[in-house]
Amino acid sequence: MRLAVLKEAAPGETRVALLPDAVKSLIAKGLEIAVESGAGLASGHSDEAYALAGATLTSDRASLLSSADILPVVNAPPAEDQRRIKPGAIAIGFLRPLDHPAALLPAIESGVTLLAVELVPRITRAQAMDALSSMATVAGYKAVILAADTLPRLFPMLMTAAGTIAPAKVFVIGAGVAGLQAIATARRLGAVVEAYDVRAAAGEQVRSLGAKFLDVDLGGIATEDKGGYAKELSEEALERGRDLIAKTAKTADVIITTAQVPGRRSPLLLRRDAVENMRPGTILVDLAAAGGGNCELTRPGETQVHNGVTLFAPLNLPVTVPGHASQLYSRNITNFLALLVKDGALHLDMDDEIISGSCVAHQGKAVNPRVVEALEAYAAAHTQSS
Ligand code: NAD
Repeated sequence: MRLAVLKEAAPGETRVALLPDAVKSLIAKGLEIAVESGAGLASGHSDEAYALAGATLTSDRASLLSSADILPVVNAPPAEDQRRIKPGAIAIGFLRPLDHPAALLPAIESGVTLLAVELVPRITRAQAMDALSSMATVAGYKAVILAADTLPRLFPMLMTAAGTIAPAKVFVIGAGVAGLQAIATARRLGAVVEAYDVRAAAGEQVRSLGAKFLDVDLGGIATEDKGGYAKELSEEALERGRDLIAKTAKTADVIITTAQVPGRRSPLLLRRDAVENMRPGTILVDLAAAGGGNCELTRPGETQVHNGVTLFAPLNLPVTVPGHASQLYSRNITNFLALLVKDGALHLDMDDEIISGSCVAHQGKAVNPRVVEALEAYAAAHTQSS
């Protein structure tokens, strides 16, 4: 069975789906691996490192696509690549099946089996395959570094002959995977950290990192679903959170927002007036920008200065740390492949909830109900506009 590692085609992408050490361990399990020349370069992995691991290097992308049985990718390949993939082959990666389902149509129509890492169910057995958590960890760390680099102040408390410097005040909104990593990073840099989350369970984790957890009385409503994720809140409950956030934001030096509700637009937690009441020089990093953002002023993908407050709305911070982002992703993918490959042969067990849960398309048809719905909506809009 043949696996191919492509050089990612998406503009600005620096990550690679599999690192040389993963290639080596998969070859030991009986796979044949071909790598596109230059695939790992931007993340610090040379063609020689892949060759030493036992891979065949080639610049012939078309033949890689048409001969592979398995294609681990970071992003969905472009349409012309999708059409070249062998029918029946499996592509696994961040395929964005719910935001951009139509971009997958060429692969779906050619009978490629698509497995989206975003749809891997977040059950205990799948934790080692949780690529969303891996990227959230990198993003949480990098958001603080970005803020520290731009803040016109230092982070730690310093006692010098020229006087004492007070520590930076960092406010983290949303204490999930990214938020907790942001808290830990800001603490390591010496900041005083406060955090807010609607899930009471987050309080203990926040405190264990040496930060203060801000409690809001939301009137005893349920804020968590069965899986431990935040629920969409009523406007009244959101407003109580906003009041506390606006008050805390007035004295913060850095605000990192990470609040998300799976499958919904990111909740709006900072209104324009809250930003206008912040001190000039404050840095806001909206990590929820890809889902619409937590701040009313957020322009996804753009950086702006509003009344002296710098607002960052990065869409893909992990690409700025490609070495470790690829290392974590490569490990997630390798763990996923262990489910798919048994004794060197492909074993697509649709009774396994991790495989069926992440499967977007199989045998020429979209199979995930949410993707089917999204494709129908796309087709309806397309028919109306043509
Ligand atoms: P996420 O990215 O969906 O959301 C980020 C945070 O925003 C969450 O903590 C959420 O509670 C918070 N939030 C949502 N609405 C809010 C609002 N209105 N105000 C304030 N905060 C709000 O979540 P995530 O980071 O992926 O993870 C959430 C939880 O799930 C964490 O406890 C995490 O440890 C857990 N988790 C479990 C698994 C697993 O078991 N496999 C995998 C990943 C995460």
